[in-house]
Amino acid sequence: MNSINENILNQSVQYVKAVGPKRAESFESIGIKTIRDLLFYFPSKHLDRSTTLTIGKAYSYLVDGYEGEITIIAEVVKKGKRRYGKKEMIKVSLKDSTGLFECVWFQGVKYIYDIFQEGKTYAVSGKPTRSKYGDMQLIHPDYDRISQDETNEYLNTGKIIPFYRIPKTIKNKNLGDFSLRRILNNAVEKYADLLQETLPENIVQGNDLLKINEAVKNIHFPLGKESYNKALKRFKFEEIFYLEILIALRKYQYKSTFPGIAMNINNNLLKNFLDFLPYKLTDDQQNTLRDIFADMKMAQPMNRLIQGDVGSGKTIVSLIAMIIAADNGYQSVLMAPTEILADQHYKNISKMLNDFANKNNFDPIQVSLLIGGQNKKDRTKVLKKIETGESKIIIGTHALFEEKVSFNNLGLIIVDEQHRFGVEQRGKLLKKGKVPDVIVMSATPIPRTLTMTVYADLDVSLIKELPRGRKKIKTVLRRGSNLPDIYNYIVNKAKEGIQSFIVYPLVEDSEKLELKSAETYYNNLTNTFFNDINVGLLHGRMSWQEKENIMLQFKAHKFNVLISTTVIEVGIDIPNANIILINDAHRFGLSQLHQLRGRVGRSEKQAYCILVTDDKNIKYNLKKDISIEYLSTVQLNMYKSSIRLNSMVKYSDGFKLAEIDLKLRGPGDIFGTKQSGLPDLVFIDIVNDTDIIEDAKYIAFKLIKDDIKLEKEKNNLIRQQLKNNYSSHFFYSKIA
Ligand code: ADP
Ligand code: MG
Repeated sequence: MNSINENILNQSVQYVKAVGPKRAESFESIGIKTIRDLLFYFPSKHLDRSTTLTIGKAYSYLVDGYEGEITIIAEVVKKGKRRYGKKEMIKVSLKDSTGLFECVWFQGVKYIYDIFQEGKTYAVSGKPTRSKYGDMQLIHPDYDRISQDETNEYLNTGKIIPFYRIPKTIKNKNLGDFSLRRILNNAVEKYADLLQETLPENIVQGNDLLKINEAVKNIHFPLGKESYNKALKRFKFEEIFYLEILIALRKYQYKSTFPGIAMNINNNLLKNFLDFLPYKLTDDQQNTLRDIFADMKMAQPMNRLIQGDVGSGKTIVSLIAMIIAADNGYQSVLMAPTEILADQHYKNISKMLNDFANKNNFDPIQVSLLIGGQNKKDRTKVLKKIETGESKIIIGTHALFEEKVSFNNLGLIIVDEQHRFGVEQRGKLLKKGKVPDVIVMSATPIPRTLTMTVYADLDVSLIKELPRGRKKIKTVLRRGSNLPDIYNYIVNKAKEGIQSFIVYPLVEDSEKLELKSAETYYNNLTNTFFNDINVGLLHGRMSWQEKENIMLQFKAHKFNVLISTTVIEVGIDIPNANIILINDAHRFGLSQLHQLRGRVGRSEKQAYCILVTDDKNIKYNLKKDISIEYLSTVQLNMYKSSIRLNSMVKYSDGFKLAEIDLKLRGPGDIFGTKQSGLPDLVFIDIVNDTDIIEDAKYIAFKLIKDDIKLEKEKNNLIRQQLKNNYSSHFFYSKIA
């Protein structure tokens, strides 16, 4: 460290030329205290004023309806103030050898009047417009005075100009656009070279990054678009690199700090169970199991994400892991997002384990269900069994951990259909002795940029392929006016023995209203189109027992059609339901739609997903095919619901849909502190900066894997940077 330079940079901002104590006060009020702070006060945008034209040429741009800003260098021929109403304006006419035009100001008239002198030359930049007399005008242009000698400094015109966002009150007081540019220019010229590099040199070189000094210079005053982009890339890389370092630390320190459980994989048991299954596992399922077993064997805690598309068969994989844990004498917990899904898992899994035990003549593994709304007696019994260790598999909702459950010896936690097992939730577990293995199973695929960032502390297994013999679900988009035909179609299919879901979304005004309109919808249909088939209704006001009852009846084919108003019952598995009709489909998000569609197509029969929407959401498709890569942000926003629906028609791959979804939703609050505990990203665009993220992740993870505590001398700089800038984001241990 060069401490002299450091000291200079840590001096008060007032020592920068053209600042002084008064302006320093203004800077301080927006958090800029030192010279270094000022150097890192980056422009919010740049204005490209590098198109410098003669007046004659500028007129031709005007004809073409040119949108950008231009710069003109010309001589003042006349200036005049004029009253309009109670206010004053000023017009300055300028000429060059090709013509004449005028600049107009409605504010700061007195000041401008003094600046512009007849016979002197100025550079002015702005958007050209036409006055009502047909003359070219620049309204409120920025300007630089041009003197005869060669010392001209173009700060406001003629090139790419930084634009700094600053509160109006301060701007009006003593830090206007012009003075800010001058101050920043002074600071960058004098002090940028004193900055110490904040990334290791081999990383700067190896990734073709600008050094910090060059990057700071170019982010303020780039010579062209390219040098600006290079500067930006450096800051993007640095930002995501340190973020990845934090995540890598979180990942490897978690594993090395906390004692996990080493389990033994009983191959005999495994083989027996696989033989017992009515199907063969897919390759992806097998590979995932292999990953899981490797983790289970290790004395380090497992922290794994299973990413699989809807219907790819994640449940069976997790069940096998639970059987292995039970064989080792450990309890497992399976947490589902809803009670009804927990209940479904409970029924399927207990039945399967009982059948398996019967076939092999041993006692079945004991399974318990723990959800709200159970009666007190049952609940006490269940809790007792968990405490004594009699229950080996405990199935419940995510709320399970909010309650007082004392496990006998918990060894494995499976979180189903949720993206993340929060840091806090895991924190709760860390307090109790050995840390159980954790498997998180995603509800739908996660976009790649997210698995490389927010989820990067998890090991990932992918289940991409669907079980053999599944036919692609046919998805169609229809108008509301087609509903009678669709209802008739559903009735005909019902008579052939095929069941249907109808999803009926409700504006969630109030639960009462929801109930009323659900019942109205149900009554209307059962009195008309569906009068000679059986229809069930599932809505949000039912208790889970009532819901469960309906689901059981549907599964037992007591109904041909199930109308469901609860927005989504993820994970429900009813193989004989092969049609899903989604009303007002534009109201759903893309991953929700994909989840809903995943309720069908769970057998070898052809399944259908019918999306019904208004006319306006079909429009885009009628015009042309979707290729959202080529759409501007404005178009994306205009056609959002239509793109969602058409993407559903076009793609069945959940991984593809997840990427589209991220693009449509934008980065949003992905890095919001509430879940991830990671610093917010300022430079990185999580949707589009995939390449930079990938490179930075690779390097950061390799580095930490090789030096988990950052003790090696060569990593001193990184360690220092973490301490200075990111200490509030450490998780499991402090960096000394
Ligand atoms: P998801 O991954 O969406 O949670 P499920 O675990 O509910 O999917 O599995 C979907 C359906 O596929 C279930 O009915 C399950 O029994 C079945 N299944 C799982 N694996 C296979 C396989 N390898 N071959 C055939 N069917 C399978
Ligand atoms: Mg599932």
